[in-house]
This record gives sequence, C-alpha cells and structure tokens, in this order.
Amino acid sequence: METDTTTQTPLVHMSQVNKFFGDNHVLQDIDLTVMPGEVVVLIGPSGSGKSTLCRTINRLETIDSGTVEVDGKPLPAEGRQLAELRSNVGMVFQHFNLFAHLTVLQNITLGPTKVRRLSKGDADKRARALLDRVGLADKANAYPAQLSGGQQQRVAIARGLAMDPKLMMFDEPTSALDPEMINEVLDVMQDLAREGMTMVVVTHEMGFARRAAHKVVFMADGQIVEVAPPADFFDNPQTERAQDFLSKVL
Ligand code: ADP
Ligand code: MG
Repeated sequence: METDTTTQTPLVHMSQVNKFFGDNHVLQDIDLTVMPGEVVVLIGPSGSGKSTLCRTINRLETIDSGTVEVDGKPLPAEGRQLAELRSNVGMVFQHFNLFAHLTVLQNITLGPTKVRRLSKGDADKRARALLDRVGLADKANAYPAQLSGGQQQRVAIARGLAMDPKLMMFDEPTSALDPEMINEVLDVMQDLAREGMTMVVVTHEMGFARRAAHKVVFMADGQIVEVAPPADFFDNPQTERAQDFLSKVL
C-alpha cells in the first residue's frame, strides 16, 4: 500500500518524548511517526527502550516530556477516552496472557462483548472468523493449556484483532516460542501486514523485518539511532552501533 504522507493523519506521532525510570533516561528525545498501513519494526539491543516505547503508545507507561498522539489525538490520561484508545491499539506480548480459565472463544469474545458491547452471537461469529484466519478454526472450545505456545500466540493475535484495532503492536511475540513454532506466528503477522494492518513490531527476527517492514527503527540506549527501509538498513547500516548490532544478530 502506498502511504500518502501529505494528506493522511499519522496513526502514531511521537515528538521529543522523554521518559525516566529514576535516573535511567530510557527514552531520549524520541520522534516517531507511523502512517496508516505502515509496518514499523523496532530492533535494538536488550534494554534499549523498545518495550517502553511501545508501552507509551497505549499509555501503559507515562512520559515525562514530549507528546504522543494516536490517530491525531493526544494521549488521554484516564477514563473513557483512555479505554477507547486502548481498544484501538491491540497489543501482543512475549507471554501470551490468555485467561487460563476461559476457552479460546471466550478469550477472544471477552473484549468485544464487554468493551465494544457486541452481542454474544455477533462476537462469537467474528471470533470464529478470526480463528479461521489464524489457522485455528478447530480450537474454539479448547483451553489455553491444551494449546502449543505457537497456537496460544495466534489466539492472542486473534484476540487483539477482535477489537478491530487501528494499530497492532507486537512486543517480541516469538521470543518465548520453541523454534519450530516461530514461523507459524510470523506468517500470521506477515499476512496481516500484507492486508494493510498498521503494525509496530519489536522483534529479533531479522528475516521477518526484512520481508515485512516498511521501516526499520534501530534503537540503542534509549535513542532512535537509525530509521531506514529494511533493505537499506540491513545492507548498508550507517552507524557503528547498528553495524555492531547486526554483526551479532545476523
Ligand atoms: P527493551 O525492550 O529494549 O529490552 P525496555 O524498554 O524493557 O528495553 O527497558 C529500557 C530500560 O528501562 C532498561 O534499562 C530497563 O531496565 C528499564 N526499565 C524497563 N521497565 C522498567 C520499570 N518498570 N522500572 C524501572 N526500570 C525499567
Ligand atoms: Mg523489551
């Protein structure tokens, strides 16, 4: 999809964002724009601030200065507007965070029935369609413990999509998976990307970044060090820090 940067409102616009944990300056003058339909892959060493950056976007973390706008609106502090923001931003974490006592179908329909006020019938129908999309149509009545890690993570993606979010964020969604399950999750994410979903993805899967990203954002020590299309970033990193990082992970 072509992103028309002249007329469209960015889905995420971060400007001069700073965040401290005590003395630790974990986000330093962060500027980041994510346009509708864009797939942004965040990479960088452990501790560089990738998760914190993601968490500021749906206000799981507060910021100390700067601005974060989602879909043209500044981040609300609390209340109904915050709930609405969160429902527009789907988030998939390293650990699947499914509710163990609910079936797969119930995990997916919980948000839509409680927050979106969908009827149970409509929510079920939608959930089944999403399960089909992530290749798990036959697992609607299973409990999370009966699924493999890769299957649980695909349920978590379906659950995120069930809220009909404008943006999906993934924070190392395959890092806790056995190697043979990584691709089944990346494939679902790549399909989503192809279908035009706006995505922010933190990952160490450089193959995925190369294939799916429109833009690679390289972070180190709380700063955005490089932003480039994947081919440029991987074949011709501009900074020593990026070169050093790539020499360790590629
Ligand atoms: P990454 O996701 O790139 O590994 P994080 O965003 O998790 O990095 O962490 C960035 C820095 O912030 C690290 O130094 C980490 O120790 C620190 N940090 C993260 N979360 C917290 C927290 N809740 N309290 C204090 N320090 C934190
Ligand atoms: Mg992290």
